[in-house]
Amino acid sequence: MPDPRPNILFIMSDDHASHAMSCYGSRINRTPHLDRIADGGMRFDNCFCTNSICTPSRAVILTGAYNHVNGVTTLASTLDGRQVTMPKLLQAAGYQTAIIGKWHLGHGGVNDPTGFDYWNVLPGQGLYHNPEMIEMGERKMFPGYVTDLITDFSLDWLRNRDLERPFFLMCHHKAPHRAWEPDEKHALMYENEEIPYPETFDDDYSNRAAAAAAAKMRIERDMTLTDLKRPTPEGLTAEEEKKWKYQRYIKDYLRCVASIDDNVGRLLDYLEEEGVADNTIVVYTSDQGFFLGDHGWYDKRFMYEESLRMPFIIRYPNGIEAGSVNERMILNVDFAPTFLDYAGVQIPSHFQGSSFCPLLKGDTPAGWQTSMYYRYWMHLAHHHVYAHYGVRTLRYKLIYYYADALDQPGAIDDPREPEWELFDLETDPFELNNVYHDPAFADVVEELTAELHRLQAQVGDEPYVHSSAAGTWRK
Ligand code: CA
Repeated sequence: MPDPRPNILFIMSDDHASHAMSCYGSRINRTPHLDRIADGGMRFDNCFCTNSICTPSRAVILTGAYNHVNGVTTLASTLDGRQVTMPKLLQAAGYQTAIIGKWHLGHGGVNDPTGFDYWNVLPGQGLYHNPEMIEMGERKMFPGYVTDLITDFSLDWLRNRDLERPFFLMCHHKAPHRAWEPDEKHALMYENEEIPYPETFDDDYSNRAAAAAAAKMRIERDMTLTDLKRPTPEGLTAEEEKKWKYQRYIKDYLRCVASIDDNVGRLLDYLEEEGVADNTIVVYTSDQGFFLGDHGWYDKRFMYEESLRMPFIIRYPNGIEAGSVNERMILNVDFAPTFLDYAGVQIPSHFQGSSFCPLLKGDTPAGWQTSMYYRYWMHLAHHHVYAHYGVRTLRYKLIYYYADALDQPGAIDDPREPEWELFDLETDPFELNNVYHDPAFADVVEELTAELHRLQAQVGDEPYVHSSAAGTWRK
């Protein structure tokens, strides 16, 4: 008799913000196949990552632990595969397991994927066209477009699986990561349209800590010829040039998303044709959010909403009510315990997240989390974003830019004066007005600072200590 435990198909893209998905109310594109997952299951509106950058978020998902615990704090870190991971536990419990696509946690020795019966991953960031992949340790070139190939290989693996055992497949897309290279099929999509501009497109970074103005991820200034793929036309005003660059950027980004959407449709069709859709949990998420011209930016890293927020939609006809929406807070560190819970596998006591299976069944456990801890470690690297940590509650967000490398891999040792930000998300959803120094918010500052330190103690992290008395901000 076939094993009754559910299959799990975990589809994750790279840098796909939820405000570019129509099931999340996108103003700029349609994603009909992703919407099939949301319509047939549950959409989470408050899913957050604990560190908004590729490698660390992936490590959190695999290990069920925060980055200071799993050792993957920055893009320059690698995952030591000797630790206990969720795929290893599923494999040991009889699941057939595979990862296909982006890995980005290091290669060779203890950094190769572990806990997978089959793996075929891109080296590093990987290429959009004719990518090299590492299949079970062997490097091979594959002709074609990366999103199609990752889906092809996922379908091949599913077709050849053992029908008597449940599967756990991580299908990890490279797209829509920078430099946003579309396939031929979608190359002219949106060609004669103007994509709407976000509300904060012309943010001037006033009323914020210095970190916002210091960041180097401005569409108008920091995009390269590789990003834009053609020279900027002559004779444009500064405003026209910024808009031209946004259109170049966002159209290519959305074209990459359209290919993901088509390919997710292929996987959903397969599950339906096979007759296994009802007993298969399908998740679509992304390793973090992204600025889609919001605050005049591309990229991520900040604890601001567009970057912090992850899309998370999940369909499981045998166990989740179709068309449901959940406002509760879930985190990437909660994914691993949730999948183990569904598989009937005991969650290791050292896993730091919580299973949200009860939420998926329509219940909210007493004491469910109403605040979350965030930490970005990679001080000044790549886009000149200051290292920071903070707490987000249902209404407020407190951020502390401690702005110091602290010897983290790839971080730049050039400390800046620490600064705080507080936002009232109810009255200021776009985070344009730092009220940290406003006396009217003194009680909120006190309460959130205490909550921040409570969460740090809970997850085993420590507040940054600096000495301004010595004329330095070094620890
Ligand atoms: Ca990413």
